[in-house]
Amino acid sequence: MQQHIDSRLAQLGSTHDARTGAVSTPIYQATAFRHPALGQSTGFDYARTKSPTRTVLETECAHIEGGDGCSAFSSGMAAVHAVLSLLRPNEHIIVSMDLYGGTYRLLEHVMRPLGIRASYVDTNDIDAIRQQYVAGMTRMVLIETPSNPLMMITDIARVGAWARAHDVLCVVDNTLMTPYLQRPLALGADIVIHSATKYLAGHNDVLAGLVIARGEALCARIAFIQNAVGAVLAPLDSWLLLRGMKTLALRMQRHEHNATRVAEWLSTHPLVKTVLYPGLPSHPQYALQAQQAHGNTGIFSFRVRDAALVAPLLAHISLIAFAESLGGVESLMTYPAVQTHADIPADVRARIGVDDTLLRLSCGIEHSDDLIADLAYALDAAARSV
Ligand code: PLP
Repeated sequence: MQQHIDSRLAQLGSTHDARTGAVSTPIYQATAFRHPALGQSTGFDYARTKSPTRTVLETECAHIEGGDGCSAFSSGMAAVHAVLSLLRPNEHIIVSMDLYGGTYRLLEHVMRPLGIRASYVDTNDIDAIRQQYVAGMTRMVLIETPSNPLMMITDIARVGAWARAHDVLCVVDNTLMTPYLQRPLALGADIVIHSATKYLAGHNDVLAGLVIARGEALCARIAFIQNAVGAVLAPLDSWLLLRGMKTLALRMQRHEHNATRVAEWLSTHPLVKTVLYPGLPSHPQYALQAQQAHGNTGIFSFRVRDAALVAPLLAHISLIAFAESLGGVESLMTYPAVQTHADIPADVRARIGVDDTLLRLSCGIEHSDDLIADLAYALDAAARSV
């Protein structure tokens, strides 16, 4: 019977322990597994290669994203690195120009010295992608949609079709949306990446990454890299991720509700210049987002009228924490220019719009009235102090 994703999420991992019937997957805290006899295996030999709690998580996540396989990593960056490791020296990747600063750092300071070159474009502009494409060298296009922090949307189906026609892998970082809101593989992508640290785990207490792919050969290659490099997710963290994902549907509904209310309120505030949220009809790609996703994320960015407002605003929020992450139950505000995107050179940041008036707000699951009251107080205090 075809079930809604909500039902599958609620019972994530609850049917895997046939021996005891435990509705919560056990934490198999073992690194070695006895062999029944020479040449025989229970399917588990050594925990870096395969570990029972992680296997349940990987099986469930492959299903939830609609992929043929999943590999779980010790962080989102380890997951991004595994995907970039599919590339060889002299190969080329086209990347969304607005992207997480850590991915930029990895591309420029780890992959480029290995001979892998990245070009940054607006990935929703197929002509820009075409211009960067080098036959025989371009092997991958990596999309963030919505992008972090400017919330630019890329038409996944369009880029996926272009990539297929050019024998290029289409990779989508789905961290901000989660499979509850967006299914890139169904839209034509080959690989989905998650910083599962964010919405999937959901509680600001687990660092984790996932790669889900289509096709046995691609999944096997990623699993090979996972085992060879060894940045695997530990049993307890695999369990915490399974546990967090059980409430993903409810949390995403509340995150979206809060983000929509707070974004609407901020867009009418006199100290706020712009609000970048694809859930607002004023967003230039509102229609595209509504067409390819089942809803909107809980994070958005906004620009205040004057950079001098930023420091006092951050000093006066109290329910909302000034901290560097997103996607958890607690609301967090980030200043991308000096935190998440500090590794992107200032001129590049200025060109794409990650300027010193830009703030990013990850709305948690608190009551939206309280989030608005916290922002109202902090904006008033900021106005008085400049
Ligand atoms: N991708 C995106 C979109 C992110 O926002 C982040 C982290 O903020 C990462 C990847 C990296 O994930 P992690 O911090 O789990 O290594």
